[in-house]
Amino acid sequence: MISRFPTCWRRLLSLLLMWTVVETSAAPSRPPNVVLIYCDDLGWGDLGCFGNRRIRTPHIDRLARQGTRFTSFYVAQAVCSASRAALLTGCYANRLGIHGALGPKQKIGLHPDEMTLAEVLKPRGYVTAIVGKWHLGRPVELLPTRQGFDEYFGLPYSNDMWPENPNAAKNAYPPLPLINGERVVEEMPDPSQLTRRYTEHAVSFIDRNASRPFFLYLAHSMPHVPLFAGARFAGRSRQGLYGDVIEEIDASVGEVLLALKRHRVEDDTLVIFTSDNGPWLSYGHHAGSAGPFREGKGTSFEGGIRVPCVMRWPGHIPKGRTNDTPLMTIDVLPTVARLAGAPLPAKPIDGLDVWPVLRGERGATNPHPAYFIYYNQGDLLAVRSGDWKLFFPHTSQTLAGRPGGTNGMAARYQQLPVGTELYHLRRDPGETRNVINAHPEVVARLTALAETARSELGDRRLQRVGAGVREPGRVE
Ligand code: MG
Repeated sequence: MISRFPTCWRRLLSLLLMWTVVETSAAPSRPPNVVLIYCDDLGWGDLGCFGNRRIRTPHIDRLARQGTRFTSFYVAQAVCSASRAALLTGCYANRLGIHGALGPKQKIGLHPDEMTLAEVLKPRGYVTAIVGKWHLGRPVELLPTRQGFDEYFGLPYSNDMWPENPNAAKNAYPPLPLINGERVVEEMPDPSQLTRRYTEHAVSFIDRNASRPFFLYLAHSMPHVPLFAGARFAGRSRQGLYGDVIEEIDASVGEVLLALKRHRVEDDTLVIFTSDNGPWLSYGHHAGSAGPFREGKGTSFEGGIRVPCVMRWPGHIPKGRTNDTPLMTIDVLPTVARLAGAPLPAKPIDGLDVWPVLRGERGATNPHPAYFIYYNQGDLLAVRSGDWKLFFPHTSQTLAGRPGGTNGMAARYQQLPVGTELYHLRRDPGETRNVINAHPEVVARLTALAETARSELGDRRLQRVGAGVREPGRVE
């Protein structure tokens, strides 16, 4: 029958057929852009959409209205380097041999053989950038450009690791470099300009790459002490310098969102906004708020590890919702890998695909039997399973009700002994009532779960070596 058509019509028909096939198969294979905004030491209670009534965060609040607030979102450890290692690899940081906060003179970092989210996404055609704080190795061999990031503009570690830090010993730190790619472009950048410069680079990256899949990791140096706000924001907030700094970060979020809108890629972009750990409470009014939660950074109480989190992907993540399902940063990599159609790293990871939870599917639950909270050089301090959290004996820093420091100076913590303690987080989110004696069956179950973590990831406190622990990257 078709042979009765003239040849030119047959050609046109087959072209049309081909076009239809290409169009329908191309649409779902377009993986989403990912914008991951990671603040430094921002507390659970520091944003308007998380109940703060003093600091104004209209742009992050709008992001929350257009997406979902995750109110039980955890970091793997309440300290910079370990938290970032977990976020970027989907592994508990102690699996990677990364502990604490790496200093500028240390010769270790994330092992180049570990796969970051950037490396997972590259084979799917993503262009990738980190703007801001890396903190997973200072030697050039360990910089993010060796870990799948096409671009790097930022500081290699924390902004308090600088020569003039009044809270550190004299000459403890070398000058704090600003790096572009692998090159130091400024020996000591003006810290009051960092948030603005990061924002400009982030927007420029979106401007240059909006037509293809991109992954932007915007890791702000703020509000980690020493605090600095740009001239437009200094003195503007109702909560002193700390509030100014958060309001500048909020304006930065606004500019990033505007860039997505300008390029009409809002609907193609998953935006995640969160923090690397809770507030550094010893800095008093230069620290944030953990909201209703106990303690802050450097502890395994909820104020240290539970952080504010907002995610938006229009049409995919429900808008205007609050989701209290426990989640952890280790789940970001496997979830984004699934969305991008990218295979997982060959080496074992700890995170799991939590897309059904993020999508708000009815009945979706967290797929982990438990989350494990490590600290120091690999001590297992706590385990969360369902509504329960079991602590193991350790000492934890606390101000014990005393005020924090003033004007950028830290108050001294005292050491609080923590025993084997059990808390029910839904009934007692502030971890005030140890109910260990009332629930021996829960203690037995969580203790058994902790044992599974110890055999795989170790527990330095009990001199246990984990079978699955790997080496960090080292430079001679
Ligand atoms: Mg931090």
